[in-house]
Amino acid sequence: MITAHTRVAGVAGAPVRHSLSPLLHNAWLAEAGIDGVYVAFAPPQDGFPAFAEGLRGGAIVGINVTIPFKQQALAAADFASDLARAAGAANLLLFHENGRIEARNTDGEGLLQALATQAPQLDVKSGPALVLGAGGAARGAVAALLEAGSPQVIVVNRTLDRAEQLAQTFGSRVRAFDRPDWAAPDAALVINATSLGLGGGAGPVLPWKSLPDTAVVMDMVYKPLRTDFLAAAEERGLTIVDGLEMLIRQAIPAFEAFYGSPPPPQVDERRLLLDVLEAGG
Ligand code: NAP
Repeated sequence: MITAHTRVAGVAGAPVRHSLSPLLHNAWLAEAGIDGVYVAFAPPQDGFPAFAEGLRGGAIVGINVTIPFKQQALAAADFASDLARAAGAANLLLFHENGRIEARNTDGEGLLQALATQAPQLDVKSGPALVLGAGGAARGAVAALLEAGSPQVIVVNRTLDRAEQLAQTFGSRVRAFDRPDWAAPDAALVINATSLGLGGGAGPVLPWKSLPDTAVVMDMVYKPLRTDFLAAAEERGLTIVDGLEMLIRQAIPAFEAFYGSPPPPQVDERRLLLDVLEAGG
């Protein structure tokens, strides 16, 4: 039921119509009986600052932010969490009643919890992490991995400049490359944080044989759930972690920030979203 007290939150992206976040948050709201709603916004590609500014003052409680606005979201905020500042990107904006805009990044938290759930044996402190990509998602991942004690993060990106900028932001524990075709015999973790594989295309190519048998391989892409990249990792006998788990885990702190309580435990989020993905949604 929508009332005069309904708390409105949402997700902003371009494109945004593919987003699973409305389905997830609204299922939690319905189950918890919270007077709230979660909708999708599609600001114009060059219109994010005006969009965010228009929400200042609490017209809505907050938004999740997705491609391509995560860096602009941080810039639109008056203050930001340490992780968002370290990542240089925000996936969550909160519009406080006093007019201030707060930026947070829950992608890193979602990533670490997805790893803990699907690869509980992984100790990120045990070896370097290889992060493919240098966009907003990669930045969130690098910030979270360093905070979790990763001894070294190797960032590999098609555009070397972008990887080098990322490495400069984070300092000596991060190194930048533009080619993945070198051996990584002690990698504890490999993450695809590029958009390669999204929609079913080919994923990044790796020298799979050079990875240790203990390496964990994660793909942030969740459409399809079983990407080429994860299929190759599985064929190599490695533990895999999928992007759907991260999507669910990053949404939990956002829901709490929007609606004031954690999501109800009764909802089987994975089943709910898998049904949609399997139906081609
Ligand atoms: P982004 O900022 O647009 O970055 C895209 C990255 O992919 C860049 O590093 C880009 O390299 C690389 N890339 C794109 N096309 C490529 C190609 N043809 N060959 C090689 N590299 C290519 O996007 P993002 O926000 O970081 O998101 C990246 C991916 O993570 C997306 O698929 C997104 O859906 C996913 N994601 C998932 C979750 C989750 O919860 N599961 C959360 C966040 C993001 P260049 O710098 O060279 O352009």
